[in-house]
Amino acid sequence: MRIVVDLNRCQGYAQCVYLAHEVFRLTGTEALTYEPNPDDARRLEVERAAAACPVRAIMIDRLDGAERGAAS
Ligand code: SF4
Repeated sequence: MRIVVDLNRCQGYAQCVYLAHEVFRLTGTEALTYEPNPDDARRLEVERAAAACPVRAIMIDRLDGAERGAAS
């Protein structure tokens, strides 16, 4: 899966870090870093993190179907 965080929107509330700490990390006080291509096994926690983000900064882009379609 692929995720994008709109860092202009992100206010460093850290909800995503609590819910998916393998994927999202806060460095310093407000700088969010994240794994842009987390394993599909993390889908549920990433979806929970996206839903919990107060400013809806986390976008989940499911390429699975599109990629498979393009490859075949
Ligand atoms: S929950 Fe949203 S605002 Fe908070 S750190 Fe994560 S992406 Fe940023």
